[in-house]
Amino acid sequence: MKPTVFIPEPIADAGMNMLAEKATLVAPWRDGHKPNDNELRSMLYTADAAIVRLFQVTRSDLEQPNQLKVIAKHGVGVDNIDVNAATENGIPVVYTPTANANAVAEHTVALMMALARRIEPAAEAVKQGRFSDRTQFQGVELAGKTLGVVGLGRIGARVAEIAAFGLAMNVIAYDPFVAQLSSETPYTLAESIEKLFGSADFITFHVPLTADTHHLIGESRIPLLKADCRIINTSRGAVIDEVALVSALQDGRIAGAALDVFEKEPLPADHPLCLAPNILLTPHISSSTKESLDTMAIDAVQGVLDVLEGKTPQFPFGTGATS
Ligand code: NAD
Repeated sequence: MKPTVFIPEPIADAGMNMLAEKATLVAPWRDGHKPNDNELRSMLYTADAAIVRLFQVTRSDLEQPNQLKVIAKHGVGVDNIDVNAATENGIPVVYTPTANANAVAEHTVALMMALARRIEPAAEAVKQGRFSDRTQFQGVELAGKTLGVVGLGRIGARVAEIAAFGLAMNVIAYDPFVAQLSSETPYTLAESIEKLFGSADFITFHVPLTADTHHLIGESRIPLLKADCRIINTSRGAVIDEVALVSALQDGRIAGAALDVFEKEPLPADHPLCLAPNILLTPHISSSTKESLDTMAIDAVQGVLDVLEGKTPQFPFGTGATS
């Protein structure tokens, strides 16, 4: 009998087609069905495998009677899956770490450029017939400015390369797990996160959400930032204390922020972030390119098939880690 694979959120046809011959697919979104939470949980517990994007798989789910043999994360940040509980219950977690790094890095750079040149409010002014407001949209240039990259993994390193080679920025990076860089690397390591915060004109976050990275920047560290500093976050919302960020933007203690991720998603339209000045918000789309969505779907499906077929998956997620 074919295994059942639960896919609660849309994934690319490239992955769905790979699975179609080998598994029974439970993918309610394909016919527009919007199951309630109980129905979704029951689909999860009766599946042999699940492929999830932001769908939460909690300890409580994994301690219910279920027949899961593998969970695949379509993406990198596995903080929506309780990996420890999965491991304790003998359920491997696979993920797609190489599929979306370039997409996220390019979105990060797009947000940084849009912030620097005030693209969003300027474009809005044209559409609203306020062309002559153009004098209000003076920007800043990136060349020669200092970019601080927090987290020098796949995405952070790619952003650092683009900024250093492509935009002539001075790039400094902070990552407690990176001790040194090769002499050819076009950026340097900051001695501490405080040093990075104090010297950067732009700061971008590329860390996993863990107890150590929760509210990595908040009221206590905002005073370290330059008043013309702009912050970009495409990692996870809770890496930044949103209340402190709104307050800093309102008081002009920092010059701007661009966020793709939020402490609670979806972000409601009346959230204080939506009303803050000099802010640019996108709805968690950093990895949403055709190329990256195809590769994430293919890699997630391959990981599921490998485990179900008794093979070693290419990208198992390590026990207890949360990148
Ligand atoms: P990665 O594992 O390659 O890199 C993460 C880096 O963060 C590692 O080098 C690690 O050493 C470093 N790090 C860990 N703790 C740190 C700390 N306290 N301070 C500084 N650095 C620290 O992961 P990646 O592929 O580069 O992705 C980074 C994060 O981006 C993911 O964990 C995920 O949450 C997020 N992400 C978001 C999207 C999106 O759509 N917005 C897409 C992909 C990934």
